[in-house]
Amino acid sequence: MVVIRTSRELALMKEACRISANALKLAGTAVQPGVSTLEIDNLVRKYIEKEGATPSFLGYGGFPGSACISVNNVVIHGIPSKKCILKEGDIVSVDVGAFIDGFHGDNAYTFPCGKISPEAQALLDATKESLYEGIKAALAGNRIGDIGSAVQKYVEDRSYSVVRDFVGHGVGAKLHEDPAVPNYGTPGRGVRLVPGMTIAIEPMVTAGDYHVKVLDDEWTTVTVDGSLAAHFEHSVAITADGPKILTIPD
Ligand code: MG
Repeated sequence: MVVIRTSRELALMKEACRISANALKLAGTAVQPGVSTLEIDNLVRKYIEKEGATPSFLGYGGFPGSACISVNNVVIHGIPSKKCILKEGDIVSVDVGAFIDGFHGDNAYTFPCGKISPEAQALLDATKESLYEGIKAALAGNRIGDIGSAVQKYVEDRSYSVVRDFVGHGVGAKLHEDPAVPNYGTPGRGVRLVPGMTIAIEPMVTAGDYHVKVLDDEWTTVTVDGSLAAHFEHSVAITADGPKILTIPD
């Protein structure tokens, strides 16, 4: 069931989204050669808790971290680890959410670790831009398929692929709510967007083909062909005045 939120609820949700965005920004400052993904996770958890919020992902379905930290060919759901030490040239996707006042925020960004290859930078640029193309299509009166097709077209025009097995989602009182928000689709199809809906739009883009697999730890999701992957996400409210990005840092 798709939930429509009141302006009061949206105001409350903004705080969870603000903390989520600050946590993500903080994680980005820690992405440097020699740093472990567990150190970044600890930083994120401490910040979220200092704000009086709870890390949305910690314990979610048994996930052991406060952030998903996914390096290079890991698309999503990388488990923070002291054994995973970042190196110059890595691309590092951090996905983090915070829960406070009854609401979740959810956002992700792929950070370069030191100097990265032009090919990796181009993938990051295209994925980030595809998120904004999706957000631009998140207009009241449009449908979910308009978002997905906008993302997909932008990505595929640049010869990258959008992951099919994982999608964006409604976000609010629960971390994952209806509707599903795929990064592919057909214009004019799917659930109609109405003011008060809050959704997480999150393109997951690969440099190779779109097939992914989940490793034996039941979380880490990698590209089957070993190609690089990037992931950018914002929590967005559908309003009568157009899409409003909620996950904005201070
Ligand atoms: Mg999400």
